[in-house]
This record gives sequence, C-alpha cells and structure tokens, in this order.
Amino acid sequence: MILPIVPYGHPVLRQKGGKVSEVTPEIRQLAADMIETMHEANGVGLAAQQVGRALQLTVLDVRTTDRASQLFMGVREVNIESAMPMILLNPVVLSPEKPEMGEEGCLSFPGVTGDVERAHSIRVSATNLEGEPLQFTATGLLGRAIQHEVDHLNGVLFIDRMTPEERTPLEPKIRVIEKETLEVLKKKRKARGR
Ligand code: ZN
Repeated sequence: MILPIVPYGHPVLRQKGGKVSEVTPEIRQLAADMIETMHEANGVGLAAQQVGRALQLTVLDVRTTDRASQLFMGVREVNIESAMPMILLNPVVLSPEKPEMGEEGCLSFPGVTGDVERAHSIRVSATNLEGEPLQFTATGLLGRAIQHEVDHLNGVLFIDRMTPEERTPLEPKIRVIEKETLEVLKKKRKARGR
C-alpha cells in the first residue's frame, strides 16, 4: 500500500525514532509499504518518520540512480543490485571517513535540492528484517543515503547539515512547504473538533 509522505513542517519529522525491538507482522507490513511508497515516489531512501511513524526503521534502493556506490560485507564486495531494496532496523553509522560534498534531495522537501557534506565511507551496524544483526561498509551514494536516513531516524534533516550559503537561497521554498503543512494540520485539527 502506498502511504502518504509527510512533508516538512510536520512535528513527526523532528521526533527521534523508538527502537524496533521485535520484528512483528506490523513492522514487516510497514517496511513493505515504505518500499512501495519509496519506489512510487522515485526516492532512494525513506525513513519511518516520513510516513508518520517515529521508529528506527528505514528502507533504501539506489538502483534508480547512476551515482556510484559500493557495499562490503567483511572484506568482500557485494553486488549492490542483489542487496536492494534494503531494510534497516535500528541502524547506527560508525567510523565515517573522507568527508565530501554531494547533492541531496528529500521526499519531505519536494523541489528542494542542495549540497550536503557527508562521509564517503561508513560502517553500518543494524538489524535486518529477520531480526539478525547486520554489519557492512557502504560508500558513495549508498553511504550518503544511509547517513541521510539515519539522520531522519534521529529527527535530523538534511537542511540542518547545509552551510548557511547553501541553505539561504533555498529558504523561500522551504518556508512555502512548511506553511502549507501547518495549514493542512490546522484544518485537520479543526475537522476533529480541536
Ligand atoms: Zn529525507
């Protein structure tokens, strides 16, 4: 099922996700719905907060882009295609290395893109949908996308990571999205009788 994507201005995007301690049928369904939603929106990643759930759960798929990525399990390089889509529970970014600038967008900020500094290479520790621990190294776009999503799971957004020079020209677009979101939330509150 395709879920509505929460736009900037909604308070859930600032909430830190709760740990997923058990892979219930509900979590499996949520992960499947998030993958469907991400694919439909042509995104490379989606965090649970972006579908209104403050949980440590994110999905990724970098196959839709031609920006280079590498994935290593131990010392062995793994074919990226075979690892996509990726579902990460409780992911943590470890040993970030080689900071670099790169362009990012976000499904919660339609039409907004800007350069953000991220590590080129990261180690990731997470749990998979079988509830098993998972450790790998990701570089390039996959590494960048994971850093962006892990930020979401902690209530941090890509605009927070931009330099003032990068963010200032985007500010009018960001304000429009925020204002629309707040108006929709206000209408919903009214419809519920406050
Ligand atoms: Zn995002």
